[in-house]
Amino acid sequence: MSEDKGFELRFCNSASCALAVVNTEELLPKLEKILENANLGAFYQSLGLKGKKRRCFRVAVAACPNACTQVHIADYGIIGQAVPALEGDCNTCGVCVDVCEEEAITLFEDRFPMINFEYCINCGACIRACPQDALKAESLGYKILVGGKLGRHPMLAKEVFALVSAEKAAEILDKTISFYQKHCKSGERLRVIIEKLGWDTYLAAIS
Ligand code: SF4
Ligand code: SF4
Ligand code: SF4
Repeated sequence: MSEDKGFELRFCNSASCALAVVNTEELLPKLEKILENANLGAFYQSLGLKGKKRRCFRVAVAACPNACTQVHIADYGIIGQAVPALEGDCNTCGVCVDVCEEEAITLFEDRFPMINFEYCINCGACIRACPQDALKAESLGYKILVGGKLGRHPMLAKEVFALVSAEKAAEILDKTISFYQKHCKSGERLRVIIEKLGWDTYLAAIS
């Protein structure tokens, strides 16, 4: 998206990617509409931020935790999630244990797989690999990260929600932009504002 609009919406090539765990077709138009309606370009101009001082609110969407769109350094990052669960007949083949790069699965006494959700990143690899179709996505949705930035003082975005629906991801973006436009006085990045006012203030504004 062009910087003249005051925002950038990046999304990964999930339509042709076998690793995608969510279909973002429904989500992307909602995000674009919210960003367009916020008139961020005019907002930045009203702060006198033109030419080299021009600013851009960055949103990035990745359809799986491989996060190809640099969601960790966007103002607002959205990552597709597939939470695995054993719902069918397991033959204890161990394929899921082998494919899990996070070492989150243990074949418990060679009887059935146990998933350690402290390690699992909801990538869906075990679900795709199970030859018995015994592993399913118990939940599909999006993780929300906020406040990533590069520049002179880079910061990785922080997780604010572990799993929300597409509707909720769009709603939180809407509230986040309202919060940003209320408190941004000279083109500061979202993270700078949140660090100044406190994460509790931000979280209260989007709840
Ligand atoms: S983020 Fe995931 S779904 Fe999107 S292109 Fe990368 S690997 Fe594929
Ligand atoms: S979803 Fe990914 S990280 Fe989680 S258990 Fe399956 S393969 Fe491992
Ligand atoms: S890949 Fe499927 S069948 Fe094999 S151990 Fe894992 S859950 Fe069981």
